[in-house]
Amino acid sequence: MLFDTHSHLYFEPLSDDPDGVIARMLRNGVDRAVQIGCDIPSSLKAIELSWEYPEFLRATVGIHPSECTSLRIEETMEELESILIQNRDSIVGIGEAGLDYHWISEPPGDSILTEEELRDFHITQQKSIADIQKIWFRAQAELAEKYHLPLIIHTRDARKDTLACISDFPVNFAIMHCYSEDPDFAYALLAHSPEIYFSFSGILTYKKSDPIRETARILPLDRILIETDAPFLAPQPVRGSVNESTYVRYVFEQLCAIRTESPEEIEQTLWENSCRVYGWR
Ligand SMILES: [Zn+2]
Repeated sequence: MLFDTHSHLYFEPLSDDPDGVIARMLRNGVDRAVQIGCDIPSSLKAIELSWEYPEFLRATVGIHPSECTSLRIEETMEELESILIQNRDSIVGIGEAGLDYHWISEPPGDSILTEEELRDFHITQQKSIADIQKIWFRAQAELAEKYHLPLIIHTRDARKDTLACISDFPVNFAIMHCYSEDPDFAYALLAHSPEIYFSFSGILTYKKSDPIRETARILPLDRILIETDAPFLAPQPVRGSVNESTYVRYVFEQLCAIRTESPEEIEQTLWENSCRVYGWR
């Protein structure tokens, strides 16, 4: 039995045929999946999916770093909390939250800036985006802590700040979603809190992912989870196609290929880890 700990079944084209996605998932021994919210509307869709398929799906509610703006932070967090209170049985985590410095806004197309001005623009932009993302990150960390739920953390090109936030806020119970860093970063996080889990996605199967495979090879097995992040990041054997929960099997197979434990032990431990972290018995 496999458990896809992170997916977005409400995104097109998966949302066109959720019955088909669920049927294929069950046929291939993937028995559970968690639907991750990225903003208020998608969090509500994730909850609705968990109502429709209560045996197989649960939801999280949260604001993705790419959705963070300087507007309505307090109201939105209040709304998120009231959604959480009203749907406590369906919701198993907060997020995805975190920091994403990959995309920096471009200056207006018609501006004529010198190279130095352009560099300054980028630094200023990046700084203010980072500050706003940190405010949302902290607010969601507090919400997760208040309800004893795991915080699902997205981090991209922001390793130093992510580590600083996790120890400052602090965050003690979390899932590093789509883990794409080396072992040093993982051990720095584990040194901060033993209740941090590492979820590996299709990226684990890509050719250039040696540092990520090394992390998955050496981490304690009881800290490891697997996910699809569907419809994104299809694993190598199906790369380029729409990802879906059934393909979490490729991530599992890659993990088995690099670990010393038997596939049976890995499968059983991943299942127990996933049920434990999400409190889904
Ligand atoms: Zn995601």
